[in-house]
Amino acid sequence: MEKANAAVEQGMISTYSELIELDKKHFLHPTSPIKQQQEKGATFIFDKGEGIYLKDIHGNKVIDGLSSLWNVNIGHGREELGKAAMEQMARLGFSSCFATFSHEPAIRLAAKIAELTPEGLNTIFFTSGGSESNDTAFKLVRHYWKLQGKPEKKKIISRKRSYHGVAMGATSATGLKPFRDFTTSLAPDFYYVESTGAALRSFIESEGAETIAAFISEPIQGTGGVHLPPQNYFKEVREICDEYDILFIADEVITGFGRTGTYFGIEQFGVIPDLMSVAKGITSGYAPLGGVILSEKIHQDLIEKTEGLFMHGYTYSGHPVSCAVALKNIDIIERESLVENSRVMGEEMLKGFKWLQQEHSIVGEVRALGLMGAIEIVKNKQTAQRFDKPISPLIVEESMKYGLIHRGVIYEGADTLIFAPPLVISKEEIHKMINLLDKALTAVEKQLE
Ligand code: PLP
Repeated sequence: MEKANAAVEQGMISTYSELIELDKKHFLHPTSPIKQQQEKGATFIFDKGEGIYLKDIHGNKVIDGLSSLWNVNIGHGREELGKAAMEQMARLGFSSCFATFSHEPAIRLAAKIAELTPEGLNTIFFTSGGSESNDTAFKLVRHYWKLQGKPEKKKIISRKRSYHGVAMGATSATGLKPFRDFTTSLAPDFYYVESTGAALRSFIESEGAETIAAFISEPIQGTGGVHLPPQNYFKEVREICDEYDILFIADEVITGFGRTGTYFGIEQFGVIPDLMSVAKGITSGYAPLGGVILSEKIHQDLIEKTEGLFMHGYTYSGHPVSCAVALKNIDIIERESLVENSRVMGEEMLKGFKWLQQEHSIVGEVRALGLMGAIEIVKNKQTAQRFDKPISPLIVEESMKYGLIHRGVIYEGADTLIFAPPLVISKEEIHKMINLLDKALTAVEKQLE
């Protein structure tokens, strides 16, 4: 905090206090501790980013251990993306993709994504983010079954502890109850099952496959606490969906674009979904963009069976600036072999977690796939018993003092630390992250004595 003192001397502090007050008064923060925001003000007012680091307006530098919202895959401060956006804005800041209008950035990006996706997933519908992608997917699968003459196939099944976003459909599909409890009426026809093939099968049999449109799942549950699926889970899911004529949507909003060490998370499990929702890493967060990627079969059926217009589109579906940014982002992912780096550095991160497990009495199970990892906080390692109240918020607060940002998950009885650093992270930076975490864990263990 020396830099903060320097900032006071430079007279910056008056701007800072002003920003804190304006922030409290005028800015309702997304997914935020609303009372704490009023009492304590913003924890950080960020001003700059470089690589895995964020800097606040006082010049304090912190490691962005969650790539902000699991999205800044290529790291912060990449001028090339700024340049791509500027050039596109200057040339064509916006034009519509409704009806039969088009433009080169959207066309090139759609074609590029078809090169990267699993076989047969070759067409994309663009959105502005993950929630819109999932709401689009839900509308699309229902529309698809309607075109097949089966309008009663409309139920959507998701997994308990899943997170699919906050639009009405996405909220309704989210298996984490606190997100649904935020509001009252939800969208109808959404159901949640436990994460086993047997649970999915028995649900389908009890409801009737003729009423079910699709099953949606994150390849690795992110917000729910970085949960890897049970072994063989997605193979079973694929078989069950085929057997009962149910579409399988992979929510790749976090896991897409290299996060798990392959381009898309579902590739880790050797199956191909019918649709994939993407967002976040598609632009590394430099511009808002998402999409739903469709199988050739679905696309062909839509073309053949739609009478009249395809009645779904956002103003910003295929925004030219976002598409230009995405193209440059993918260029960087490829040029710098970031998917491979995610795999290799993910192994290094997991090694670090295992070392922490040996060093700390409160570190229980650890897990990671690529640069997506979690540490369970426990009172008793043998029994995996938790503390009476969640400890991860204390660790997160302590880490922040040492210069590391990450998140604690405490939904539905969890007490889990989650990590997803930018894919550009180096071995030295992984070690630094683990060392800071080691300090934070030591400090919290002392408080618990
Ligand atoms: N799906 C998953 C798996 C997510 O993790 C998220 C956001 O974290 C979303 C969907 C929603 O995306 P957005 O916040 O861009 O609407």
